[in-house]
Amino acid sequence: AKAQGRNRFSYFTPGLQTAALARLRMTNDLRTAIAENSLRVYFQPIVDIHSGKIQKAEALVRWLHPQRGFISPMEFIPIAETSGLIIAIGDLVFREALCWVRKWRELYRPDFQISINQSPVEFQGDQERYINWIHELALQNLPGQAISVEITEGLLLDASQKITSKLLQFRDAGIQVALDDFGTGYSSLSYLKKFDIDYLKIDQSFVRNLATDASDIVLPEAIIMMAHKLDLKVIAEGVETQQQHDLLKQAGCDFAQGYLFSKPLPPEEFEMLLQRQKT
Ligand code: C2E
Ligand code: CA
Ligand code: CA
Ligand code: CA
Repeated sequence: AKAQGRNRFSYFTPGLQTAALARLRMTNDLRTAIAENSLRVYFQPIVDIHSGKIQKAEALVRWLHPQRGFISPMEFIPIAETSGLIIAIGDLVFREALCWVRKWRELYRPDFQISINQSPVEFQGDQERYINWIHELALQNLPGQAISVEITEGLLLDASQKITSKLLQFRDAGIQVALDDFGTGYSSLSYLKKFDIDYLKIDQSFVRNLATDASDIVLPEAIIMMAHKLDLKVIAEGVETQQQHDLLKQAGCDFAQGYLFSKPLPPEEFEMLLQRQKT
């Protein structure tokens, strides 16, 4: 192993370097990856549960590291947040999403939408950034509805003017907002009414056991009913089996996303799914 030289490293080899050093190294690598354009954006279908049609996609970032292979966003997003690189990553994902949503609306579905994750750190950043996004949409002749933004519940607890004005900014531009991982955080139900949110994404943890215990549908059912009363659409995440899908459909869920339909795919492969559904 030693003969393979200094370039063969692992971020977390104990004794070789401290965790802090490993993080520093990862931050530098991430910076290089952004500069050298080696982050990729994958797309996972979001299916209309009643028609079976792919109506949306979630954009999910991927890092192909020269030594380590694919690194999970769960591992590098926190590092991107503390280093500030999350802004460059978010902008990169936005630009890539815009390019594909434009093509796919033209070729396959005029109302196609791509959703983009916004971590709390980036959402709380500079307002100017979203002004640029809205400007970019207009330049590409795209309506705001071509994009939706996924935020997490915790953000709404902090009902500061900064958060409110960004949500208003999105609404004015027609950009939709989804509440991600719903049910895992503070479940701030009162905020759902207060803020203009368009979609609730039921967290995977509510979907996982749906088929094993009959009473497990009770919570998703209640969430769906409440969401509909507040005029929100519901997307179920992590749908892996037909049985989970059928139970959610019965409970009135609007959209489903998960391995049952497809894993996140590179854009060219995702496009083949759209192509196949067209005929
Ligand atoms: P998330 O937003 O909750 O994304 C859903 C995650 O669930 C994705 O993991 C997706 O690949 C995975 N998933 C989808 N369907 C299934 C299924 O049927 N079963 C199971 N077990 N998993 C499924 P991924 O791509 O590894 O992303 C992890 C997290 O990283 C995301 O969770 C999100 O919080 C964050 N993330 C990913 N891309 C971005 C990004 O561009 N910006 C930001 N800020 N965060 C991102
Ligand atoms: Ca998400
Ligand atoms: Ca989620
Ligand atoms: Ca709304």
